This record gives sequence, C-alpha cells and structure tokens, in this order.
Amino acid sequence: MSDTIKYLLPESEIPKDWYNLIADLPEPPPAVLHPGTHEPVGPDDLAPLFPMSLIMQEVSGERYLEIPEPVRDIYKQWRPSPMFRARRLEKALDTPAKIYYKYEGVSPAGSHKPNTAVPQAFYNAEAGIKKITTETGAGQWGSSMAFAGAFFDIEVQVYMVKVSYQQKPYRRALMESFGANCYASPSDRTQTGRAILEQDPDSPGSLGIAISEAVEVAAQNDDTKYALGSVLNHVLLHQTVIGQEAIKQMEMADDYPDIVIGCAGGGSNFAGIAFPFLGAQLRGGQSVRAIAVEPAACPSMTRGQYAYDFGDTGNLTPLTKMHTLGSSFVPPGFHAGGLRYHGMSPLVSHAKELGLLEAVAYHQTPCFEASVTFARSEGIIPAPETSHAVKGAIEEAMRCKREGKAETILFNLSGHGHFDMAAYTEYFSGKLEDKNYDEQKLSDALSRLPQVAAS
Ligand SMILES: *Cc1c(COP(=O)(O)O)cnc(C)c1O
Repeated sequence: MSDTIKYLLPESEIPKDWYNLIADLPEPPPAVLHPGTHEPVGPDDLAPLFPMSLIMQEVSGERYLEIPEPVRDIYKQWRPSPMFRARRLEKALDTPAKIYYKYEGVSPAGSHKPNTAVPQAFYNAEAGIKKITTETGAGQWGSSMAFAGAFFDIEVQVYMVKVSYQQKPYRRALMESFGANCYASPSDRTQTGRAILEQDPDSPGSLGIAISEAVEVAAQNDDTKYALGSVLNHVLLHQTVIGQEAIKQMEMADDYPDIVIGCAGGGSNFAGIAFPFLGAQLRGGQSVRAIAVEPAACPSMTRGQYAYDFGDTGNLTPLTKMHTLGSSFVPPGFHAGGLRYHGMSPLVSHAKELGLLEAVAYHQTPCFEASVTFARSEGIIPAPETSHAVKGAIEEAMRCKREGKAETILFNLSGHGHFDMAAYTEYFSGKLEDKNYDEQKLSDALSRLPQVAAS
C-alpha cells in the first residue's frame, strides 16, 4: 500500500446545506437569557449585533439550512478540503490504529475559520452592512474575517488579544493586507478596554475582553455589526461542511471512524467535524466516540461549571448556559491563543451534558511534542491550537497499541502553524512553560457567576 493516501472530492460535492445537530437531539439546549431580565431573548434582542438572517440561523431547529450559491462559490477556492490517511504517522507510532485527518489548513487564512467568515460577511452584505467589528485570539479569526470582508466590500475592525498581537505580528500584517484594521486589546478605544487598562495596565488581554470591545463598538453604531468566530450556533452550523465532507471521504476510504477528535476553544471546529457524525448516530447510524481536546491552562469543560454566564468579560452579551470558567477569568498566556476562551459553545456544552461527547485537557508542551512527531511523519506543521487535537489522536493511537486494537481515528487538522513558528522556536529551545491557571483566581471567577434562578 502507498504511504500517501489522500481522499479528494470533486467541487460538486461541496455540501449544499449546513447541518443542524439541534434537529436530532433528544432535547433542545437551554434558552438564551437577557442579561438584565433573565427572560429568554427573542430575535429582536440580538438585532443590534447581527443581521436577521444569521439570527434566524442561530435559533433554527431545522435539520438542514441551504448554503447560498455565492458562499458555495467562494468555498470552491479551497473546498472540499482533503482528507488524508496518516500512514507514516501510524508507522512511526507503530500502532494498529488507522488514523485519518481532515485538513482545513488549505483555506486562504490557513484554518477552518473562513468556513464561517464567508457566510457571515455574505449575510451582512446582503443586509446592507458596511462595517464589522470582531475579536481575534491568535489572529486566525481576524484574518479570516478580513479575507471575507474584502470579498464583500465590508470594512473589518479587529480587536486582537494583546499577548497575541505582540507574539504574532505577521497575523496582523495578513489582516492589514486584506484591508482590515487591527487593534491590541484591551485598547483605549472602548469603555471596556479603558476600564481594564485602568485596573491592570499590563493586562495580556483575553478573548472575553476583546469580544466586549468589539460588541461595544457594534452596539453603539447603526452601520456596524459584530461577528463572532466560534461559540454561537450559527458558527457551528457553518463549520459542519467539514464533517459532512469527511463522511463522504470516509466512504471513499471504505471505513468509518470509531473516534472523532477536534481541539476545542469555542467549540466550532470540533462541532464542525463531530456533529455530522453525531447526527448520523442519533438517527440510528453507527456510534462514534467524539473527543474534544482543550488546553489544561484554560479547561472550560474538564474543570469549569455548567452554568449560565456571559460570553464576554464586560458582561454585555446575553446569558447562555455553558461550561465556563467564569467570564472574569483570564487564563495564563500560552501559544494556542485561539483556545484561550473562558467558556464553551452552549451547543457543545449541551451535547456533553447529554453524554454525546468526552473532553480531555493537555498542557502545551506535550501538544507541541505531538505536533513535531506529526510534522516529521506527515509534512504539515499544525497550529498550536490544532496540536491539542494531534495530541488527542496520538494518545488514542497509543491506547490502541497497548490494547492491540485496530480502531479508526479521525481528527480535524484545524489549521497550519506557519504564522506560529515563534512558538515552535520556543519549544525547541526548551523555553516553553506549562503555566497553570491560578486556583484562587478561578474560584473567584466562578463565585462571580451570575445568579440565575432554575427554570
Ligand atoms: C480558532 C482556532 C481553533 C479554536 O477555535 P474553535 O472555535 O474551538 O474551533 C482551533 N484551531 C485553529 C487553527 C484555530 O484558528
């Protein structure tokens, strides 16, 4: 057998619909609540931030939502993305497991994020919106939104978590190349940013803070809407093109995964690959173990509480029930900036409560080690976020080896790490530190969760 095994679908196999897991769940996720009244929010409450078409997707219970033709047309630039069998990695690990990976690094921004940036820009443009504000961690989302904005003539303003802004200057250059403006967050451009800088002038920033800044600007300007790169139902929906394609590619391989793995920051790439398989399972198909891998320094699912919380640090967003470390929690700095979020997607959290998925957490050093093993076998440098999924896949492959089991593992290679080489340099120099979160700060943040009466 050849060692280079690649599964390619023709353009005509780009999915025609996004898949909505809610339609197949035994019970719907808990309501989203208004931050002031604690009553369920309606579509109109979200209208200052999002165009109505996206809000209707956010609250939809339909199983399939049609992908507009202009969006599919742009998807053609990199979709369907390839799936590979990792034969050389299997050999390097000497495992009986079969390892497959879906590669989302082929997109213009180098990750899965353009899968949702493009439809978000499309629906905003359709609604006549001229300007979008957003946040970004490592810069993957900001560059995806910048790319999509350029295609639809929308001005994009990005609040980038300060620690990443300093670590990843080329991500910022990428955003600016696509025509976006990028600011280090916390910034002095918003009330939220100024308040945080006053308390802590050296704040490294966090996704929660950057979201507050972007939401604040959008809420105050009529011509401006806000875009979120993960967490929300409509974002997860857009990412299901990944898993739908993977189902067809597994058919081409005449195989089916026992295990589906994704790294989890806000939950969108994990949901993107796992939800279509979980949907098939819920409709009576074969079962899969879905494993979400999160960073040990920001472990919302393995250490957080399942509770109502704000999506941002400034407490401007509605309340959603999710696995959270508390909206005031600021994780220590680590390289997977896209995983430094205090919460987890409410829909992923709900699926976890229903027993549909598992979560594990690893520190960054073993994840980089796994990524280097992967790169030397497969020739692709994973993003630091993705390295968590790689670690998860290698752990399962090694378990298969110990147990002598030939299970089939599929993981999502959510992005390449070409803009993250400083992190690899640090890893090779032995300077990479596995910082633990501060237990006291975590319990403080959890004690400040909003009090919501049980319904
Ligand atoms: C943003 C990002 C992630 C994490 O975000 P999710 O919403 O959990 O998918 C993972 N991998 C890459 C490459 C990213 O850019």
